[in-house]
Amino acid sequence: MAKVSINLATGSIQKEELIVGIDLGTTNSLVAFINPDKNPQVINDTGKGVLVPSVVHFGPAGEISVGNEAKEYLITDPQNTVFSVKRLLGRSYHDIENYKDFFSYKVIDDDSESLVKIKVGDKFYTPIELSGLILKELKARAEHALKTPVNRAVITVPAYFNDSQRQATRDAGKLAGLDVLRIVNEPTAASLAYGIGLNPEETRTVAVYDLGGGTFDVSILQIQNGIFEVLATNGDTFLGGDDFDSAIVDYWIEKNQLDKAEVIADNKLAQQLRLKAEEAKKAFAHQSLVNDKIGDIWCTIDRTTFEQLILPKVQQTITCCQNALKDAKVDKTQIDEVIMVGGSTRTALVKKMVAEFFGRPVHDEVNPDEVVALGAAIQADVLAGNRSDILLLDVTPLSLGIETMGGLMDVIIPRNSKVPTKAGRQYTTSIDGQVNMKIAVYQGERDLIKENRKLAEFDLKGIPSMPAGFPKVDINFLLNADGILKIQAIELRSGVKQEVEVKPTYGITDNQVEQMLLDSITHAKDDVSQRMLIEARVEGESMIRTVETFLQKNAGFVEKDEATKTNEYIQSLQSALSAGDKDAIHKAIDELNEFTRPFAERLMDHAINTAMKGKSIE
Ligand code: ADP
Ligand code: MG
Repeated sequence: MAKVSINLATGSIQKEELIVGIDLGTTNSLVAFINPDKNPQVINDTGKGVLVPSVVHFGPAGEISVGNEAKEYLITDPQNTVFSVKRLLGRSYHDIENYKDFFSYKVIDDDSESLVKIKVGDKFYTPIELSGLILKELKARAEHALKTPVNRAVITVPAYFNDSQRQATRDAGKLAGLDVLRIVNEPTAASLAYGIGLNPEETRTVAVYDLGGGTFDVSILQIQNGIFEVLATNGDTFLGGDDFDSAIVDYWIEKNQLDKAEVIADNKLAQQLRLKAEEAKKAFAHQSLVNDKIGDIWCTIDRTTFEQLILPKVQQTITCCQNALKDAKVDKTQIDEVIMVGGSTRTALVKKMVAEFFGRPVHDEVNPDEVVALGAAIQADVLAGNRSDILLLDVTPLSLGIETMGGLMDVIIPRNSKVPTKAGRQYTTSIDGQVNMKIAVYQGERDLIKENRKLAEFDLKGIPSMPAGFPKVDINFLLNADGILKIQAIELRSGVKQEVEVKPTYGITDNQVEQMLLDSITHAKDDVSQRMLIEARVEGESMIRTVETFLQKNAGFVEKDEATKTNEYIQSLQSALSAGDKDAIHKAIDELNEFTRPFAERLMDHAINTAMKGKSIE
């Protein structure tokens, strides 16, 4: 099995080219590389600093800014400024809706599984596109600082990211023109930055404590033979340094006898206070009293008060550590190293409480903002084959996956995965009463299966007749050390099962592999755009089916003019579909969804009323 590098600038295949490591954070992002002295180093593009705030702003004439400049617009133009997009990556409406409108969604929007979109002005953006813009900025800064094209990257994600969130991160990289060699867990990268796990002989159990701007997570890792296994993760996706800032703001509001509602309503003042609070928090690293003013508002606080304010929040993170240990079935005393990650671990109280909890000094020697990016750069260097000290396990040169709706490739084993490896995913049917499911296995990097290489196709037969979406079909890929791929499909409700074996490398030369990789890079952007259009189409078509079925079955719940209007919305969705304009499709879906949502609610109310009536009260 081969490992291939491509220089996009020259189009040639080469062994050594710079691969950068990227920490794509919720609050801040940054990029690192291995310098000529063979040390990892963060990139500081002159005058712009190391950290790129993960913020994107859209100007009135369509101009886009990313980073510090965009962050300024959070105050002046909040409607057109997107932040914390990482929280939405790979997420469906279903994931983020907090279940509150779940039922109305489920009936009308059959596609509550589809990924969220963000509307800025009259345009729809996916979190993938927005993250792509951040990555593009990082790539540009790296190229500017290093004066060389940067086309390949390792990108980190939280250990708790699922398949869909990882895939979304890969896609964002592709959109930015980056060949994403590997997605690495943030705690793994942090360990590598401390040199932990680089020696294949050693076995270590590590706790990685990551407190960022808005999120907290702790991971327990078991490192053995150079393999990083995440034993458990725990955390809170709405707990971070931002909470420390708001605790200070609340304190100042109280001390100055301000009306909190009024302060919040005054967007500008609220932001000024928040920024001042963040400054104060950071100043506690080297002073114990902060004394400042905004207009005639006193912004004074001492460190002891600050620590009292944030104590409950820090205590919460310690509880998460306890839970993680419990899930990992590891005792505190078995932890060999504790690693501090994230800007908020600079707060002395955090360090103190974590060290006390684990009963050992914590690692804070590496800058906690940079440690993940530095580790990603080390991982990149390992992949580039520049580290003879590290055993590079055999990797699979091309991704393996199956065909999904609309002729899209769904990758199950990404390229560069170590072999042997095992991965799987669950699928379902798209048509009511579907009893057979075609499973087509492909190899390659393109988003459309027609551009990839077909390895096998078989039918999973005998699925009991159920409504669309009900059957649960597990598809598992097992790639063994000899490069044999075993594909297994099981319908979980009935137990029907089918298995085939193929050898993906059979009949393909190294040159062909290289050509396939090159093509995938040349077409990366178009591929992702096409894929997003196809996904929009699939969503739109299924929406029409759902609404039409609803109208047929429940005509009594819809007024005549409502039905007429619904049909008009269906018509405009249909024309958007035939025009093939992604934004127009999303817009039409949204409108149809919005208009038909009350129908489902009516149906629900009716169902509840009837159920109540049927009950006799004794
Ligand atoms: P993320 O991983 O979520 O992108 P970061 O690791 O960049 O976030 O952490 C950002 C947070 O770190 C912010 O809340 C910021 O205020 C905080 N932070 C940065 N420097 C300090 C400091 N010196 N003391 C306390 N908090 C800090
Ligand atoms: Mg982070």
